[in-house]
Amino acid sequence: MTIPRCTPRLAHLSRSSPCFVIDDEIVARYGSHATRLAFLADSLTDLDSRLRAIGGALVVRRGRWADAVIALARSAGAGRVHLADDYSAYAKGRLSVLERSVAGHRIEVIRHPGVTVVPPGELAPAGGFFFQVFAPYFRRWQSARLRPARPAPAAIRLPAGLDPGRVPGPAELTVAGAPARDRPRGGETAGLSRLGDFGATALAGYEAGRDDLAGEGVSRLSPYLHLGCLSPRAVMAELAGRPGSEAFIRQLAWRDFFHQVLAARPEASWRDYRGRGDTWRDDGAGLRAWQRGQTGYPIVDAAMRQLAAEGFMHNRARMIVASFLTKDLYLDWRLGAAHFMRLLADGDIACNQLNWQWVAGTGTDTSAHRIFSPVRQSRRFDPGGGYLRRYLPELARVPGDAVHEPDAATRHSCGYPEPIVDHRAAIAEYRARTRAGAASTAPAGLPSRRTCPGRRSLLGVPGGGQPSAGSAVTRLRMAGQQRRGDRLAALLTPAVLAAGQSFQRRLDLRQRLPLGHHGPAETASPPRRPATVRRRALSSLLRSVVVGERQLGDAPEPGPPAVLELRPPFHHAGLRHRQAGHRVPPRHRPGPVAADTSGPGTCS
Ligand SMILES: Cc1cc2nc3c(=O)[nH]c(=O)nc-3n(C[C@H](O)[C@H](O)[C@H](O)COP(=O)(O)OP(=O)(O)OC[C@H]3O[C@@H](n4cnc5c(N)ncnc54)[C@H](O)[C@@H]3O)c2cc1C
Repeated sequence: MTIPRCTPRLAHLSRSSPCFVIDDEIVARYGSHATRLAFLADSLTDLDSRLRAIGGALVVRRGRWADAVIALARSAGAGRVHLADDYSAYAKGRLSVLERSVAGHRIEVIRHPGVTVVPPGELAPAGGFFFQVFAPYFRRWQSARLRPARPAPAAIRLPAGLDPGRVPGPAELTVAGAPARDRPRGGETAGLSRLGDFGATALAGYEAGRDDLAGEGVSRLSPYLHLGCLSPRAVMAELAGRPGSEAFIRQLAWRDFFHQVLAARPEASWRDYRGRGDTWRDDGAGLRAWQRGQTGYPIVDAAMRQLAAEGFMHNRARMIVASFLTKDLYLDWRLGAAHFMRLLADGDIACNQLNWQWVAGTGTDTSAHRIFSPVRQSRRFDPGGGYLRRYLPELARVPGDAVHEPDAATRHSCGYPEPIVDHRAAIAEYRARTRAGAASTAPAGLPSRRTCPGRRSLLGVPGGGQPSAGSAVTRLRMAGQQRRGDRLAALLTPAVLAAGQSFQRRLDLRQRLPLGHHGPAETASPPRRPATVRRRALSSLLRSVVVGERQLGDAPEPGPPAVLELRPPFHHAGLRHRQAGHRVPPRHRPGPVAADTSGPGTCS
C-alpha cells in the first residue's frame, strides 16, 4: 500500500501541519487488506499522540489525495507542502496531479526522500538508468553518499484555528475482512521498541540465525519500514558498526534494490519482468489448498497458516511457499502475490511483487530453476520441527523427524491431508515445460515473437501474454524519452490496475467455483469465457492508453512527438510506439541478465 510516510521526522519546521490524507482511491482498492489497514490505524493513532506530546497534532483528511492536500494548504495559509517522496506508479501519478494543480495557487511542493536508504534513480550503471543485478548495485550502494539521519522536531505548533480532524479506527478504513488474530501493533513507538529489542538480542547472531524458522533471529521490522513508522536510513544509522550489522544492512540494500527496479519499471508490479511464455495452469482447488495451508506439505502449510494468523511470514518460508505455488502447482505468481498483499502487514508492492518474480524465475535474473524442495527445506531450516508444530496443531504430537513428512497412517490419525501433488513428478513436469518454453528471456516490455506468437493476453493469465501499454512505456524509455515514459506510466496506472483488477476478480471468481458449478450470483449470468474477459479488460486498458497519451500531449519533451498506434486485433498486436519519421528499433533490447547467485536466499 502506498501512503505518504507518517514519521514525524519529516516535519522539521516548528510551525507546520503534519498531515495524513486517507486516500479514498487507496481505501477502495485495498479496503479488504484488513491487517495492513489495522496496522495503519495504529500507526496514525501513535503518530498523533507523539505529535500532541510536542504541542501539535496529526491533521487527518480524507478524500482525493491531491485535492485534500491543496485544500489544507490553502486553509492553513501554507506556501509550501513538504512530502515524503514515493516511487510507485500510483504515487508518482497522484504527485504529478498535485504538482500540476498547485501551479495556480502559489504553493511550492518539496519532496523529501524517506522510503529507502538510497533513493531510486540515484545510482545507475554505466550505460543504463537502473541496476538489474543486485551484486553490482550493492557494491555501488555501499559507497553511496547518504543523507544525514535527522532527529524529530522538539516542538510543533499548528496554525491557529486549524481543525486537525480525527484519526479513524480500523473499522472505518476496512471494507471487508478482519485483521489477523496475532497481527503486529503498528506505530513508531512499537517499531522503536522492536528495533531496540532486535539490536540488543538478535543482531549479533542475525547472519547465522536469519534462516532458522523456529527461532526469533529476524527483526520483524518490515511493516514499520513499509508504512514509514521507521525510516530505513535511521534504522541503518542506529545499527551500523555493531556486530552482525553487515548482514542485516545487506537486506536493507535488497529492499532498496527492488524499489529502484520498480521505480524504473512500474509495470513489473503485475507483469513478468522477463517473460518466458509461461502458460500457467488454472487450478482453483490447488490454489485454495495453498491459501488455506492444506497442501499436505507441512512446511508450506505451517507458513501459510502463520501468514493467516499473524499477517507475517518468515522470509525463508515466503520463498518456500512461493516456489511451491509457481513450480509444484505451476500457478501464476500474480495469484500468490495478490494473496500475500491481502494478508501481509508489510505488503509492499516493490518487495512483494519483485520477490515473487525472483522466485518464479520471471524476475530480474534468468534463473528459471530456483526450486525449493519443501521437505528438504523443512529438515534444513526447521530441524527440530518447532515451526511446524507451532502452526500445525494437528501435527503437534508427531514425534521427531516424522513431522517433516508424515506417513499415510500418521496423516490419517491426525486428520492431516495427503500431499496434493508429488513434488518430484511436479518438478519434472515443470522442468519439461520451461525447457520447451524457455526460448526467450527478453524483458517483457519488449515483445518477442518467439515468446508467445499470436497469443498476447492481458496479465499473462493464461497464456503468458503481455499487455501492450507497458510496452509503449518501455519503448518510450528505451527511446530515451524517460520523462514521457514515466508520465505515461503514471497516467496509465490507475486505469491499468483497474482493468487488471477487474480481470483478476473475475479470474478469482472462476477459480473459486468448481467446474460446472455456479454460485447464486453466477446462476443468472454464467462466468464469461476467458477470451471475452481478456478482450474486455484489454479494451478498457487501451482506452486508458489513448486518454493517457492525450494528456501527455500537452507537455511534449524535446524531440519528435511520440504517438501510440492502436492496431486491431488488439490481443495480437497491441500498441506500437513510433516517433514521427522513424520507427524505434524494435530489437534494441538488453540481453539476458545473468542469474544473481547472491540472491536473498539459497535454495535446494
Ligand atoms: C515471495 C516473497 C514476498 C515478499 N513480500 C514482501 C513484502 O510484501 N514486504 C516486505 O517488506 N518484504 C517482502 N519480502 C521480503 C522479506 O521476506 C521480508 O522483508 C522479511 O521477511 C521481513 O521480515 P523481517 O523484517 O524480520 O526481515 P529481516 O530479515 O529482519 O530483514 C530486515 C529488513 O530487510 C528487508 N528485507 C529482508 N529481506 C528482503 C528481501 N528478500 N527483499 C526485500 N527486502 C528485504 C526488509 O525491509 C526487512 O524488514 C518478500 C519475500 C518473498 C520471498
